[in-house]
Amino acid sequence: MLEPAADESGGGRAKYASVMQVPTIWFTAVAAILALSGCGQPLTTAPTTSTPSLAADGGPAVASTDACPTQLTPPQTEGPYFKAGSPARTSLIESGMTGTRLVLSGRVLTLACAPVSGVTLDFWQADAGGTYDNSGYRLRGHQSTDAAGRYSVETIVPGEYPGRTEHIHVKVRAPGKAVLTTQLYFSGVARNQEDSIFDSHLLVTVQNTATGKAATFDFVTSS
Ligand code: FE
Repeated sequence: MLEPAADESGGGRAKYASVMQVPTIWFTAVAAILALSGCGQPLTTAPTTSTPSLAADGGPAVASTDACPTQLTPPQTEGPYFKAGSPARTSLIESGMTGTRLVLSGRVLTLACAPVSGVTLDFWQADAGGTYDNSGYRLRGHQSTDAAGRYSVETIVPGEYPGRTEHIHVKVRAPGKAVLTTQLYFSGVARNQEDSIFDSHLLVTVQNTATGKAATFDFVTSS
């Protein structure tokens, strides 16, 4: 199924074009948060998240990623905002970035539960305001799984934009295999049910932490 073109291309571009016109209410909210925290840090933690649906939900307890998979990770459209050549990095957070800090980690496995090392995971996502960086590589980056098939990326909870709930795009390139392109979602987000391509099989498992949120997801590739 195709990702809604009007949602990712039309709405996204509109937001991109107005990237410098951040709503006054956002500044007000950030100012209030900073005043309350007194720390002056641009990133918020879970209790002051800019995504109330997640804060209210809290998410289910993080499941152990030691469990073996029972099905392949479903593919999804890449949408219009993939950009080749992202930098190799495990943190997508940059100076001045706002939002709720998120550490997403997990493994790449085969259906036989074997870890797959040397898999390139290329992540890209919208910022907390629902805007993609299409001129540079903000909130884009790739890394490779280690000998145990593990990955970990530090980022922020992505914002919603017209037609789309919170999601993170990823391309999984396992050596000698076809590229798996898919998207990850967050439980407890009201907009999930309004997003035509939302798939509950692609929900990350989330818990709140002292610095934001921690999420886990294991990708399963064909043997
Ligand atoms: Fe998207």
